[in-house]
Amino acid sequence: MGRPTLSLVIPVFNEQEVLPMLHERLQGFLATLNLPTEVVFINDGSKDRTFEMLQKLAKDEPRYKVLSFARNFGHQVAITAGLDYARGEAVVVMDADLQDPPEVVLQMVEKWREGFDVVYGRRQHREAETWFKLVTAKIFYRFFAAMVPIEVPLDTGDFRLMSRRVVVALRALKETHRFVRGMVAWIGFNQTAVLYDRAGRAAGETKYPLKKMLKFAADGITSFSILPLRASSYLGLLISVLSVGMAVWAMIAHFVYHATVPGWTASIVTTSLLAAVQLMMIGILGEYVGRIYEQVKGRPLYLVGEVLNMSRNADNDDLDDPADTPS
Ligand code: UDP
Ligand code: MG
Repeated sequence: MGRPTLSLVIPVFNEQEVLPMLHERLQGFLATLNLPTEVVFINDGSKDRTFEMLQKLAKDEPRYKVLSFARNFGHQVAITAGLDYARGEAVVVMDADLQDPPEVVLQMVEKWREGFDVVYGRRQHREAETWFKLVTAKIFYRFFAAMVPIEVPLDTGDFRLMSRRVVVALRALKETHRFVRGMVAWIGFNQTAVLYDRAGRAAGETKYPLKKMLKFAADGITSFSILPLRASSYLGLLISVLSVGMAVWAMIAHFVYHATVPGWTASIVTTSLLAAVQLMMIGILGEYVGRIYEQVKGRPLYLVGEVLNMSRNADNDDLDDPADTPS
């Protein structure tokens, strides 16, 4: 069986409100696109009618493939599974809520045809998102860019096209805590951007509450930077210099001015400050050690429940097979 030219990978988690709209937009899009295309939905343990609706859609539409997880494994893992199963020469990851307009994919495909391996969507305007989301995202990506040694494009999400060789490379990165956009940047090859306006969510509510956002941010930083671990060395060095200075000052006060002050306030302040700094640094150590522990366990990233319109086995062919070399 030949490969489809394009795969769309769409993670869905409790998206019953948006699915009918998505289906309609996709149908229109697939008609204009006019390329052999498959759509891989990853049902990330939805608790509403999402899976039931997908079953119905997939029955009449063989281009819709569905992979249903045994439970919610999270957005980044769902994307990973989609990339494991997608068979297209090019693969596009997009959100289910139509914040990533399918029409932009046409521009991405054009760039891919010009020879780019990664075409990411860069958000020009973001409509209808809370100021909290906008501000925290802005701060996070600037902070992230300052900390990590690889270049991660600003104002981009996971909406992007990847060539098959990038997808195959990504499958080789076996990390448990996944920050897909960083991993794609790490892979390299020829990358470029297309600009688009990010609409608001078409229906339903965000599936990224603050707790998931924080985990996502922590995974991003710890996966790509050990700067927070080094921070304790720098801080330790700084505090040592300060305390030597203080010791000198105390000696001068004692021997030259004979003005030894009781100094209770000073000592209580320094001790509690140091205790706080130490706890914080142990906390940072814990973040990394915990992730090492989880990585070492080597559990599978996800467990597949149901599969519709495709094989249970992930697409394991790699580029060693000459027939598979992307054209
Ligand atoms: N999603 C998922 N698993 C999760 C959370 C979200 O598969 O645990 C999917 C969700 O269905 C959507 C995409 O990830 O297709 C992005 O989520 P959402 O639109 O809620 O995030 P936001 O745009 O608010 O950041
Ligand atoms: Mg969204």
